[in-house]
Amino acid sequence: MAIFTSSGFSGRGLFLGDKLMTLVMKFGGSSVGSSAAMRETASLIIDTRQTWGPVVVVASGMGSSPVKVTDLLLNGAQAALAGDQVAYQVLAQEMGRVHDEAIDGLLEPDDEREAVRAEIKTFIDHYIALCDAVRVLGELTPRALDAVSGMGEQMSVRILAAYLRQLGHPAQAVDATELITTDSQFQSANPLVAETQVRTQARLLPLIEEGVTPIVTGFIGATADGVTTTLGRGGSDFSASIIGQALNADEVWIWTDVDGVMTADPRIVPGARSIPMLTYREVSELAYFGARVLHPKTMRPCIESGIPLRVKNTFNPDHAGTVIVANGQAHNGGIKAVTAITGLNLITVEGTGMVGVPGIAARTFGAVADTEVSVLLISQASSEQSICFAVPEGSAALVLEGLQAEFETELARRDIDSIWGMREVSIVTVVGAGMRGTPGISGRLFSALGDCSVNIIAIAQGSSECSISIVIEDAETAGAVAQIHRLIGQGAPSPKQV
Ligand code: ADP
Ligand code: MG
Repeated sequence: MAIFTSSGFSGRGLFLGDKLMTLVMKFGGSSVGSSAAMRETASLIIDTRQTWGPVVVVASGMGSSPVKVTDLLLNGAQAALAGDQVAYQVLAQEMGRVHDEAIDGLLEPDDEREAVRAEIKTFIDHYIALCDAVRVLGELTPRALDAVSGMGEQMSVRILAAYLRQLGHPAQAVDATELITTDSQFQSANPLVAETQVRTQARLLPLIEEGVTPIVTGFIGATADGVTTTLGRGGSDFSASIIGQALNADEVWIWTDVDGVMTADPRIVPGARSIPMLTYREVSELAYFGARVLHPKTMRPCIESGIPLRVKNTFNPDHAGTVIVANGQAHNGGIKAVTAITGLNLITVEGTGMVGVPGIAARTFGAVADTEVSVLLISQASSEQSICFAVPEGSAALVLEGLQAEFETELARRDIDSIWGMREVSIVTVVGAGMRGTPGISGRLFSALGDCSVNIIAIAQGSSECSISIVIEDAETAGAVAQIHRLIGQGAPSPKQV
């Protein structure tokens, strides 16, 4: 299924055997963040359409930090909850301005400019009406948050589709509420695969057959009853792989603002390098442990359907970026990348009376699950005298409360001595499938950290041996990541470009 090995090319695109190859391409917020970025994106869509054949585009809401439309939408909703009418009106105006600038920069006055402007205005008016309702009711439910936060995508796809049409390229904006059916877990909904496949094929295949490129909203879906849901922060990557699976696409490409998945977050480690090839598992671990470049759930549909995933740079399209496949070579002798999550709390349940008492771990995590807080990492001392696990700082109080209640009796009997949280810690994770076959990796890692006097609070190794995570103090994170980054590729051949 390699891209450029087709058995034929017709005017309509690449064929493998007699199957027309389909590509799903997702463009992140920065790729549609301004009229200049949208021009770049549109030209990539048209070029790829000509070389590849059918392309389905998934796009995020406009913006890259610091001004992301999704953030403006959410901040306004919070302001509405606090009763601050002026604040959300101002944010709505700012949103109007961002979209207007793109419209003026891209669309010709005698073409669709005014029609698209009117459509965007309708969304913004609707947003203000939703904020008014939140202010009056004094309530902002997860369901209302989803209705509000997906509007950025609904606006950006309409501008991009109109611009493509103006360039003479048939395109149509499609709301993913018509494609992706999810459960009703608002804010982090899960797709229902069978329903999604039926709806996506029914809606998109006719467009593709007519030669129209669908421009689909990322991030959002809808319940079977048609209520808008969202797939979680950064969920547009996940949207692309869900749609890729639903269409049996040949590849999914994630276009972003860096040259693929890198050895570390380039904003934190200036010497970070692009990684030509990673496995699904490696990149899942990286994404789970904080590498924002891909939403952690993105890989799931691709793994299930064996769809290769590529990450490429909209602003440097000639760079090969990263290809993510089922089985890559485990080169580089071990560590391929390092990532970190800061702002965590490490909660410890400890007591000499815990030894040999069955069910303490199950009850601990049962109590945590009742709080609906997700645990990022677990580490248990082999003596069974303590269990510790990391949760986001903001959830720690809730979790501690739940545990105190669960273990009231054990605490009174002193079977459990204490339940406590350590604030301001980070998880630093190193990833690389080759670590398994390379002895001494953890030794190198720990001595590197020792060299810069980083105190290791806890350690966990993924059962796949594809990652090792350590817990350290927040204040030491940047130094530790930089130090570990120096180990990458040390004494090993440099990776081959794909
Ligand atoms: P998009 O809007 O395109 O989805 P994101 O901001 O969500 O873009 O993700 C891209 C950003 O992810 C990069 O600009 C980079 O700062 C950050 N990032 C964090 N870790 C990594 C990594 N290991 N490789 C590449 N980028 C990373
Ligand atoms: Mg993203």
